[in-house]
Amino acid sequence: MRIKPRIVLMSALVTAGLLVAPTARAVATAPIDPRPSTAKLAVQLHKLAVQSHGKVRVTSIGRSNENRPVWGARVGHGKLKIQYVTQQHGDEPLGTPAALEFLRRVGVGNSAWQRKLLSQVTVDIVVRANPDGHERNWRYNYDPTAKPEYGEAGKGYDINRYHDPAVASADNPATEAGLIQRRFAAFQPDIMVDYHMQGRYKDASGKEITASTMWPTHAGVKPADVNFAKQIAVVVQRSINSAGGNVSQYPGGDYQGIARNGYGLLGSGSVLVELSDIPGREQRQISDALASMLAIAHSAANGSVHTIDPAAATAIPPRGPALPGTVEEDEAA
Ligand SMILES: [Zn+2]
Repeated sequence: MRIKPRIVLMSALVTAGLLVAPTARAVATAPIDPRPSTAKLAVQLHKLAVQSHGKVRVTSIGRSNENRPVWGARVGHGKLKIQYVTQQHGDEPLGTPAALEFLRRVGVGNSAWQRKLLSQVTVDIVVRANPDGHERNWRYNYDPTAKPEYGEAGKGYDINRYHDPAVASADNPATEAGLIQRRFAAFQPDIMVDYHMQGRYKDASGKEITASTMWPTHAGVKPADVNFAKQIAVVVQRSINSAGGNVSQYPGGDYQGIARNGYGLLGSGSVLVELSDIPGREQRQISDALASMLAIAHSAANGSVHTIDPAAATAIPPRGPALPGTVEEDEAA
């Protein structure tokens, strides 16, 4: 990592709304398990509930097609509501350990910044939306008899194509997407951020992209909601870049079944985050995702997200060419 002059780093942290709390990298910790089993995930979540003295509330929001619990974890009691979703695609794991660390950072302990943050925001996380896909290390849920419009026959549905607001959660053919829809509807978050992973890409200067972000691109999303999502995307960019990453825009599609668009249509500030799948960089990717989760919560709590010029999002550089070995997909999110 390039060492930046301290004053530049400080100003980046102020802009990213990070100075009110220790940054993700401020505390050295043991390596984090990038792919905890779903059984271990349950143990860790329930441990966090105990260690936080109940501040982290853990519940099953329903069951996957193979009857695994899909976990929801909630922390805080503030009026601003933020929802994070991780691992809709089973083979894109790193948002999940980042979510566990987020819950630990904000929920365990009783320092002044934690008390203040938790009085201002409520953060709800769907932790590993797709446990069956995780089990198989594949993208889809598990529904081998389905003939999905989006997904793969013999495997299952692509959960992140089944968030169309016109489809009721009870009628959703992709079970786990229906669970997310229901959790969203009950919670009504102001901010919704969906964590994925992508292949490896460069920027125009040849430097590797470590993450990409995007706001809703469906034409029906209200301009004010698009602008809010753009402000959140800038928080994502600044928080990851000031931790040494390199964030680009994500070249995503307009379909309303994609969570980024579907929850934008429903009025949330809805943003996608894609962590690049870079061998040897997993721990950094987890801490970068954590940095973005913390920065979004802090910038919402202190209002700084609203002071960002939405035009700064369109200035986030585009994603450049794929590195050799990355299979380019039309819409991988
Ligand atoms: Zn994905």
